[in-house]
Amino acid sequence: MSRIVALDTTDIRFPTSLSLDGSDAMNPDPDYSAAYAVVRTDVDDAGHAFVFTIGRGNDVQVAAIDALAGHLVGREIEPLLDDMGGTFRELIRDSQLRWLGPEKGVMHMAIGAVINALWDIKAKRAGLPLWQLLARMTPEEIVGLVDFRYLGNALTRDDALAILRDAVPGRAEREQQLFATGYPGYTTSPGWLGYSDEKLERLAREAMAAGFTQIKLKVGADLHDDIRRFRKAREVCGPDFPIAIDANQRWEVAEAIEWVNALAEFRPAWVEEPTSPDDILGHAEIARGVAPIRVATGEHAQNRMIFKQLLQANAIEVMQIDAVRVAGVNENIANLLLAAKFGVPVCPHAGGVGLCEAVQHLSMFDFVAVSGSREGRMIEYVDHLHEHFVTPTAIRGGSYMPPSASGSGMEMKADSIAEYTWKGQHVFV
Ligand SMILES: [Mg+2]
Repeated sequence: MSRIVALDTTDIRFPTSLSLDGSDAMNPDPDYSAAYAVVRTDVDDAGHAFVFTIGRGNDVQVAAIDALAGHLVGREIEPLLDDMGGTFRELIRDSQLRWLGPEKGVMHMAIGAVINALWDIKAKRAGLPLWQLLARMTPEEIVGLVDFRYLGNALTRDDALAILRDAVPGRAEREQQLFATGYPGYTTSPGWLGYSDEKLERLAREAMAAGFTQIKLKVGADLHDDIRRFRKAREVCGPDFPIAIDANQRWEVAEAIEWVNALAEFRPAWVEEPTSPDDILGHAEIARGVAPIRVATGEHAQNRMIFKQLLQANAIEVMQIDAVRVAGVNENIANLLLAAKFGVPVCPHAGGVGLCEAVQHLSMFDFVAVSGSREGRMIEYVDHLHEHFVTPTAIRGGSYMPPSASGSGMEMKADSIAEYTWKGQHVFV
């Protein structure tokens, strides 16, 4: 037996606003940041995870993770790791902290960091990458990780078991397919709103040459700019290459329908986050108003109940989970099961700090053990900040190659943590 001796937190911020990497219609000056958590034990191993924020949000996010220390420090870790479903339920049902949500926002994301850190240590102790650890669990073990409360009118435990049992045959074969050809990726690198047209064209060309299956453009600040940029991207990529657009919650419902239809001649592969992520009926109205252009959302969907309603309302045709927006691996398994039940492809949100490293495990688990399919599915990819991770993503021919290192992929290099720990202001030399 070993005990947890600390839940350490660090406020890490990268000065990405200086290069306008990550700039979009709602976030003109993001400093990509991580509220970083480490669960340490008395046998000297540790689990690493983080919540992604874009700067000052870290002040609050770090404090929220600190508030969970009482659930961990001093306890034997093995019972927590052996029953991750129970551990998850204990954290989301802390009634005094639950009051702040319930199950949404800063506190819920903090729980995600702790849950993900525990999964990191569990996978490291098992000597497996997280995706393989999850994909080798029995259907009964997997459903034991999920909290089905509030899902019963859309997904029951029996529904989930049936989905998982259906995917048991072929698991080994799909693992081999992953090792052979990876999991498809698409890139947002060309599309940041702050980039010049020349930079957009160059990066779009590079993305196609690298083998990515799609690119994505940020839109929503100025329609004339969007038309010009989309036309240039179409000229570079040709008439048939998938190009998605992302408004980052910029529009009213009617405005979204009008704006997207004004871009319809360029045939967007999907329109992402057209309006408030909480507006389920608004998304459904937009979906009807822009069809056959597909609506995608999820990077700001705060919990499994939002995803449930988006699916029930036929509001999305592409579901975009995020590794650190909800309460960690457990809740994302619920999200993957919901998507499988409704037959909607999951194309995760990534980029930011370490989101590619983290979310690839969930997609690969989904392919092997849940949906059993890569059809119409791809993981977002943005080519920056990977060098700060101990096991950075491996992209080959535009696809994510499956990680083989044990753990969840969320551990940052000690040197990077030291260098980018927030010191109150960015210091440039
Ligand atoms: Mg987005």
